Amino acid sequence: MYVTVKVEVEKCNGCKLCVLSCPDPNVLAYKQEEKHVVVNEHRCKGCGLCATVCPEEALTVSGN
Ligand code: SF4
Ligand code: SF4
Repeated sequence: MYVTVKVEVEKCNGCKLCVLSCPDPNVLAYKQEEKHVVVNEHRCKGCGLCATVCPEEALTVSGN
């Protein structure tokens, strides 16, 4: 399965809850200079936790 994590960057408030919730420490990172989260989709397992915890509904996880 190839997983896509879509980040609606304008919604991200930088709380980093998604980064903390992700079971793999190398998938999500908050980029201070860009002021939003970035995703390494090659490492994402598609568990969906990040989208569940985001208070701004900025993340959408999908796979095919
Ligand atoms: S879907 Fe799961 S593995 Fe992928 S970025 Fe979100 S929390 Fe991490
Ligand atoms: S949980 Fe949502 S608002 Fe918070 S850093 Fe992650 S994407 Fe941004």
